[in-house]
This record gives sequence, C-alpha cells and structure tokens, in this order.
Amino acid sequence: MKEALFYQKLDKNKVKCQLCNQFCQINEGKRGICGVRENRKGSLKTLVYAKVIAVHVDPIEKKPLYHFLPSTRSLSIATVGCNFRCDHCQNADISQASKEGLFFEKKQIPGEKLEPDQIIALALKAKCPSISYTYTEPTIYFEYALDCMRLAKEKNLKNVWVTNGYTSQPALEMAKPYLDAANVDLKFLTEKNYKKICGAKLQPVLDNLIWYKQNNIHLEVTTLIIPSLNDSDEELTEIAKFIFEKLGADTPWHISAFWPTYKLNDFSPTPQDTIFKAKKIGEKIGLKYVHPGNI
Ligand code: SF4
Repeated sequence: MKEALFYQKLDKNKVKCQLCNQFCQINEGKRGICGVRENRKGSLKTLVYAKVIAVHVDPIEKKPLYHFLPSTRSLSIATVGCNFRCDHCQNADISQASKEGLFFEKKQIPGEKLEPDQIIALALKAKCPSISYTYTEPTIYFEYALDCMRLAKEKNLKNVWVTNGYTSQPALEMAKPYLDAANVDLKFLTEKNYKKICGAKLQPVLDNLIWYKQNNIHLEVTTLIIPSLNDSDEELTEIAKFIFEKLGADTPWHISAFWPTYKLNDFSPTPQDTIFKAKKIGEKIGLKYVHPGNI
C-alpha cells in the first residue's frame, strides 16, 4: 500500500490530509471524506493506487473538451472515490462506492490492477493522443494519476483532468508540469448550494479556476443546470460574468441539461428552453463559446 502525498502528522497518531480543500483531520484507523485515504498507525495511505474501476476510449468531446485536440479519442480512467458527495452525481455508483453500498459495507475497494506503464501502453495501442483522468475525481487518486502523467509526458501524450476543482494549491503545483488541459465544474455560484448539494465550499473552486487560467492550462468550464437550484437568470448571469471577467471571453462554457438521478431522482429534467436561455445569457455577457450539452 502506497503512502499518500500531502499530509501532516499530528499528535495521538492523527493526520491532516492536505491533498484537497476538505483538509480532513483523520484519526488512526479512519478514512477521509473521499473514503480512499486511510490513517494506518499515523501514516496516511492511498487505497486506490493502480486500482482502476473504469477504463474506456472516449471522444475528447465527451469530457467535454471542444477546443483541445478536437476529433481525437482519449483513454479515460478512474478509480473509485470522490471528495464531493453531490446529490446529482451521474457516476455515484463508482464515485461514492468507497462511502456507501456493498463494497463499503464489506470494506473493499473495487478495481482492476493496472500499473501506470500498462495505462500508457493501452493509450498507445488505442492510438489516443491523450489520457483523461475522469468519471470520479482525479485529485483523490493523485499519486496514481501523477505517475501516469509523468510516463505519458515521456511518450508525448497529453494529460487531461475532468475535475470538481477542489485540489489543494500545493498538489496543483506538483501536477502542473504534466497537466495540459482541464474541464472544471462550476456547479453553483452560491456557498449554500455547494455545501448542501456537494458537501464543499465555493471559494476554493473559484480560486482554482483562476489558477488554471493563470498557469496556461487549457481550461473549459462546465455547469450542469438543475431546475430550481441554479437555473435562475441571476445565477446564470453571475456564473457567466465570473467566467468572462476572471477567466476570459474565450474560455468555453459547457451548459449541460440535468437528468433525474441519484438523490435528485424526484427533480424534473432541465427543459431545453432553459439551456437555450443560458446560452443567450452567456453570449450576452460576452462569452465566445457557450456549448449546450445533454439535449
Ligand atoms: S483527498 Fe480530500 S477528501 Fe480525501 S482525505 Fe484528503 S482532504 Fe480528505
């Protein structure tokens, strides 16, 4: 079992994980919020190194990235676990598998053993010019993603993160030399909904979005538009304004329609009209690329 990066030892064998903005303080024998980092006798271990729960070849547009290596395919991988607990998660069966359900009850971390060199070999065999760290949250399998990214660079493959934007700053700095592109979710523009729906805070996500832009990592932003939660003219305008003012008019904004799922199964799907309203709002603010999705 691999020792985790980015943690601090505390008294009484406690540790503080500093990999993401949850900054979990973890007692001996316990796991952090993501469910995949465990304190073993005062040493923090990652439980998901090279334990792959999903590996697929996807069009890069499915990430979604529309302005990075267009019309190519990307080898897409994930482990279980996530540092968020979004009520509308479309991949809850794997993102929350370390926190609930059968595997959690049996204290198992499911996944197939695939070492970083095997991932690179798969990407080359499938003629993918990039590897995407996606489906769940790349931050929580950081050590594994980092080793894959380093090897990928040696083979001239690009690295793409599809992320909730909650990585800590030191971890982002370590990933920077290997990270080529990211699609970052900006789910809401209210602290209230980030806390209630995702179990997280808004400000670190905003700070990280700006970090990606300032560090010249290709950036696209996604907002899943959920009826009654973030579909008001005011909130859509505020999100578009943030992208325009802080990230630039040429930053693509993907506005996706929500479909009832997981804990928001009783919500209505997003009407097409709402998506087109959001597109108009984004374009009126001055964004050059507003892309509707899931309709
Ligand atoms: S990665 Fe984030 S959620 Fe997981 S243990 Fe570390 S601070 Fe907590």
